[in-house]
Amino acid sequence: MSFVRTLTGDIAPADLGVTYAHDHLYCVPPFWKEKGDVDLIIDDIEASIKDVELFKSAGGQSIYDATTLDYGRDPVALRTISERTGIRIIIARRTMYRNYGEGGLGLAYILKSWVPRFVDEADEAGFNGQALIKTFMIDNPQRAFAFKN
Ligand SMILES: [Zn+2]
Repeated sequence: MSFVRTLTGDIAPADLGVTYAHDHLYCVPPFWKEKGDVDLIIDDIEASIKDVELFKSAGGQSIYDATTLDYGRDPVALRTISERTGIRIIIARRTMYRNYGEGGLGLAYILKSWVPRFVDEADEAGFNGQALIKTFMIDNPQRAFAFKN
């Protein structure tokens, strides 16, 4: 029998309702905290609760929080948000680095398969895909590889 594990208990998939498939409700990435860059830190639980209540008022019922352990996941804060809003929250299990590096898809696969697709889709959307890749992967490699130990 399949089920969905939420922070407040297992439910049947049919009970998920309207689900937001990728959010970061509360996360304090160690890399950005160490660098003092607050743009990528979400640590105001009351502000997150207001956002979730807005989602709920629009008919939302469940949220998948994609914050991984190495990106500063905080299950206690997320459970508090879930309990105070009544929104079911499903959290990520794995680490980001594992998904990309050893034990995951691997850098060679990403460079061969994802980068060309990213460039094409960015170009189609009116951006300069190669310039974006250069910005993210070459000019700011600390961002691209922020999660490597
Ligand atoms: Zn994300």
